[in-house]
Amino acid sequence: MDVHGWSRWVVALVGAALVTAGVSAQPRRFVNVATGGTAGVYFPLGSALARLWTERIPGVQATAQATGASVANVRLLQRGEVEVALAQNDIVYYAFNGVEMFSRDPQTRLRGMAMLYPETIQIVTLRQKNINSVADLAGKRVAVGAPGSGTEVNARQILRLYDIGYAQTRQTHGLARTVQADFLSFAEAADQLKDGVIDAAFLTAGVPTAAVQDIAATRDLKIVPVPEVAANRLRERYPYYTPVVIPPNTYRGQTEAVPTVAVMAMLVTRSDLAEDLVYELTKTMWENVVVLHQAHARGRDVRLESARAGMPIPLHAGALRYYRERGIR
Ligand code: GLU
Repeated sequence: MDVHGWSRWVVALVGAALVTAGVSAQPRRFVNVATGGTAGVYFPLGSALARLWTERIPGVQATAQATGASVANVRLLQRGEVEVALAQNDIVYYAFNGVEMFSRDPQTRLRGMAMLYPETIQIVTLRQKNINSVADLAGKRVAVGAPGSGTEVNARQILRLYDIGYAQTRQTHGLARTVQADFLSFAEAADQLKDGVIDAAFLTAGVPTAAVQDIAATRDLKIVPVPEVAANRLRERYPYYTPVVIPPNTYRGQTEAVPTVAVMAMLVTRSDLAEDLVYELTKTMWENVVVLHQAHARGRDVRLESARAGMPIPLHAGALRYYRERGIR
């Protein structure tokens, strides 16, 4: 190659480098989305959101990660290890205000993005176990949720309402009646219930929950009710519980409606994220909310009109900007 040829090469190379630099001059913004266990609802919804944000927002690289769920997620946010998380509204309220399990470490960096869909407290057992009420769980081996889950908090609060504590921890609080509590993910709980290792499992998640469908596919499933009287007493102590009914035939073999309680799933972010970034994440989610509708049945409950309804903590400024633009109060 002559000098001319070389110089043309150099010009071409430098040109290519400039084009590449031009593209990546847009700073890469990493958005980690904390979800829950893979057999829950947070995981498919969080994964759908991460895909959407990566595809639609230039420079954004979003990734969903499996976690222990709500309690773990708000702590990951506070520590700056994730940018967005799914979590229950009761847990987010406790975290931000430094009450219940957060009394020593309020999670003040949390900011709201959107309210999502109801999460039902499902106490699942097998018909042959003869467990008909929460009181019947005393003396049994019960999966109470993964470590760091909101499920575990709900299990503890509901058992406590019936004066039942965990046998192996100080949370027994001198209660005479106890359960042998196992801290299991939804997938582990489903396997162990099917195998007869445990007697019952708590799951707080949108219905139908994959792990419960999995049990119902091969076993005679029963869902233990939380009757209205109990639900009302629970609400007096913890106002985020709402009485709900699991409709008949939500799961194979579940022919009757089951009264229980529910909380709300929500999307949370961090106060130190740039307003523009959170604005774009919020806007992109609502403009493409159909991806959530497709990812899980409860995704259909996710509606812009109710995005702020019952929001337990202050909204992030970027989310607020979007809702103001759209006239959502
Ligand atoms: N709400 C559950 C929890 O925080 C997780 C639900 C899910 O993974 O869909 O324990």
